[in-house]
Amino acid sequence: MIAYDGSRYIFLEQALKSESAWFINRRTFCKQLSAAAVLAANARAFSFATTASAPTALKNRAPLAPNAFDPLPLGAVRPAGWLHAQLQIQANGLGGHLDETWADVGPNSGWLGGIGESWERGPYFLDGLVPLAYLLDDTRLKTKAQKYIDWTLNNQQSNGMIGPHTNDDWWPRMVMLKALTQYQEATGDPRVIPVMQRYFAYQLSQLPTRPLRDWGKFRWHDEVLTVLWLYNRTGDPKLIELAKLLHQQGYDWQAEFADFKYTQRITREFIKLDEHNGLSDTGLATHGVNNAMALKASPVWALISGNDFDRKALLHQLAELDRYHGLPNGIFSADEHLAGLNPSQGTELCTVVEMMYSLEVALSVMGTPMLGDRLEQLAYNCLPGTFTDDMWAHQYNQQPNQVQCSLNHKPWTTDGPESNLYGLEPNFGCCAANFHQGWPKFAANLWMASGDDGIAAIVYAPSEVHTTIRNTLVRITEETDYPFRDKIRIAIHPETALAFPLQLRIPAWAKDASIRVNGQPRQAPQPDSFTKIERTWKAGDTVELTLPLEARTRKGFNNSIAFERGPLVFSYPIGEDWLKLRDRGMTADWQVYPTTQWNYAVQIDSIKATEAPVGEAPFTLKGAPVRLEVKARKLPSWVAEDGVANPVPESPVASYQPEETVTLVPYAAAKLRITAFPELKS
Ligand SMILES: [Zn+2]
Repeated sequence: MIAYDGSRYIFLEQALKSESAWFINRRTFCKQLSAAAVLAANARAFSFATTASAPTALKNRAPLAPNAFDPLPLGAVRPAGWLHAQLQIQANGLGGHLDETWADVGPNSGWLGGIGESWERGPYFLDGLVPLAYLLDDTRLKTKAQKYIDWTLNNQQSNGMIGPHTNDDWWPRMVMLKALTQYQEATGDPRVIPVMQRYFAYQLSQLPTRPLRDWGKFRWHDEVLTVLWLYNRTGDPKLIELAKLLHQQGYDWQAEFADFKYTQRITREFIKLDEHNGLSDTGLATHGVNNAMALKASPVWALISGNDFDRKALLHQLAELDRYHGLPNGIFSADEHLAGLNPSQGTELCTVVEMMYSLEVALSVMGTPMLGDRLEQLAYNCLPGTFTDDMWAHQYNQQPNQVQCSLNHKPWTTDGPESNLYGLEPNFGCCAANFHQGWPKFAANLWMASGDDGIAAIVYAPSEVHTTIRNTLVRITEETDYPFRDKIRIAIHPETALAFPLQLRIPAWAKDASIRVNGQPRQAPQPDSFTKIERTWKAGDTVELTLPLEARTRKGFNNSIAFERGPLVFSYPIGEDWLKLRDRGMTADWQVYPTTQWNYAVQIDSIKATEAPVGEAPFTLKGAPVRLEVKARKLPSWVAEDGVANPVPESPVASYQPEETVTLVPYAAAKLRITAFPELKS
């Protein structure tokens, strides 16, 4: 009955076979099983380097179209260096303690059998807690996650339904299924797949009479992804039938963007917010988080349709969002509906982490290198930029031009006055529950298996991979201080000499990238490509990739200027005065007021970069490993109203104020900031 090779499982199986097992009641058995799952997972993690069971990617099963890159199971890629330190910061902050201080995912959660919050918040928390726990190999976090997993797996109704009995909404179950697949990959727990099989069979029987509605209807693709995950493991054709039904009942995102009408800042009146509580189709179609999640809709559907037009529809979708709502930090405005190009508008944290996940999925399906450029831009700017350094507080909305975080009137389309405060659950608690997936899923997707039976570096950060390529164990280490430095050193350690292709993403901005294999230079790779190195690899072979980090500028709203260097965006850091609004259990809610002026116009002809050591908190002001110096003059006519910077004035602008040299820091380091500047007349 139990398929693990962990000794505790064999013990349990033997115990069950023995007479005494009849006296183990279900509750005790489940407790033992969950403890065993944690132990078995620990054992697996410990033994990656020495056993022949290193995690292997699963290819799509016919008739599904193949992926460009197949995701490696959770646990194959491990964070190292600064990325490991960053995940540890998350674990030491709200990420590892939320349930201790926030009732919505606490002991009374409906996903633990309680009568508390029983909708999306428990599953959201798990969707990030599970990968965080297993990537850090942290027993405390694994034990925490196991409680919700066990309750879900052990309390399936006889008809196949999962989750709290107090609601039958398909949507929160879509999230829990994502958490379950990650947990199954990390542990191999044999309970997961049968529970999913029964649930999907039940849903297939129910959907004709109880179809998808509101959130589930607009987020159908996230469940299709899970359905296909199971199909690749079981081959049950009923799952393809279910995936097609979800698509049929789901919102047609491709049609929305084929004739994109939502090109202006959305208003409460436009979506009739008060009449429909935000749940009108127009409200849901212009909702930021929905749009971020929907960036995976066309690629995921293309796996079933096999249609190249479906696969590429994402590129048009992304281009339209950029064209009408793009911001200089790499995301689109959504506060919390689409909000136009003004960099004083905001973006919800859920939108950031969901867009990251969509890009990870889309990269896997499509293999388009620029999606990796965008993913790094979100991960290295928007994600850390919206948290305090210790990750004990976050914002609901972040702004590229964020000059004050206070309760003043704000420019948001539909959000409330607390939206850009740093706190436990400013404005609304969804982000408090949902942010957890950001860093861990990014770390898990740094590397993927390639369709030609090799491996690919999808996005860059310090890491280590243990996987099987062409039936041979391979360990790969990636040492780097990227994105703060330009060198990436990859060492390959196959168990025996092995021929396979290694693919490296060359970002579009990397004009003079170079590669050396065992010290020997290779032909210069093209920017905006995956470059392939095919050879027989021997233990200790090294690849040195250099991605020159030249500072550059990008034009935006009103011809404003933003500064970039590699995937990092730079901002002018405004002096900060943090004022506690209220205590919130183990954390607090904060307002942040400016202590210095910020209204600069810039010159772009002389940008000077200076570097400092890369420490364990590189996204903080104190630890900023790189700064840019630019020439600027104050622009007295550019002011803030009610704590919001007026739209950046149309460039070029004239200023007769004295010339100054101002220092810019990585976007995430400046919690008050200017990112889009007016350009001075030359
Ligand atoms: Zn949210």
